[in-house]
Amino acid sequence: MITRSNIITDIKNTNTIAAIHDLEKFAKIKWGVEDIDLTGLDANAMQGTFAVMDRAIERYPELRGTVKSLKVTAMFETMTANLHGSLRFDSTDYANGNFEIAKQGYANYVELGIYPTGTALEDAGVHELGHMLEARLVKERESDWTLQKVAWEKCKHARRILDSALKRVNLNERDIAKGVRNAFPMIAQGSDDVLVGFYRGLSADVRRGIDIHSISKYATANASESFAEAFKDVVANGDNASGLSKAIMREYENYRREESLTCPCPCPLS
Ligand SMILES: [Zn+2]
Repeated sequence: MITRSNIITDIKNTNTIAAIHDLEKFAKIKWGVEDIDLTGLDANAMQGTFAVMDRAIERYPELRGTVKSLKVTAMFETMTANLHGSLRFDSTDYANGNFEIAKQGYANYVELGIYPTGTALEDAGVHELGHMLEARLVKERESDWTLQKVAWEKCKHARRILDSALKRVNLNERDIAKGVRNAFPMIAQGSDDVLVGFYRGLSADVRRGIDIHSISKYATANASESFAEAFKDVVANGDNASGLSKAIMREYENYRREESLTCPCPCPLS
């Protein structure tokens, strides 16, 4: 019989590969997942993935209980996370015998800048947990499901966090002057490219700090993906994560501490 402490020890010990069934128990007991079925997935791949997800949940304990269901996608469907805490693992990448090939594929994408430097396919579960942090904010701050749905689809809270992270990047006067000088011809022409001109006038270091591409190409898809990629970058790389990823996670902490403006429960005060 597997005890709670044995399961938890097993996942931390990379020399011991737990069976899929034990990993399912681990997620139920330690993360509060209610509904889980990972049948058909590679235990080694899932243990590596769960180990980094567990590190993320220990660092951001508010994630506990956000994942309600962990299941497997249909063949060739990509990983997904939804507002209701349902995560689906890719049945192709994580299947027995496929993971090493999929890992190489992910590494190739890192080379192309599509995913953050210093991350691996095992970190993909952490990206999905980034979406769960956002889902938690949506549920906490939007008073009913119709508003929650819109906020989720429009990346409302991830957008606010991203915007304030971008605003807080320190531009010194010299940088601003260089940007304006570079943008001046576009201003004179009344061109739409003023911001592009300003951006190109900044030093390379400053540009890296405000460029969403500095996280990854995938992070430019929308604000939710920026947030999930920044989360993955910070969990995997710590202090070596991109400056913008670290700024996003700092802003997330500030945002989370703010009082919720609406009462989320159906009490008479809401
Ligand atoms: Zn995503």
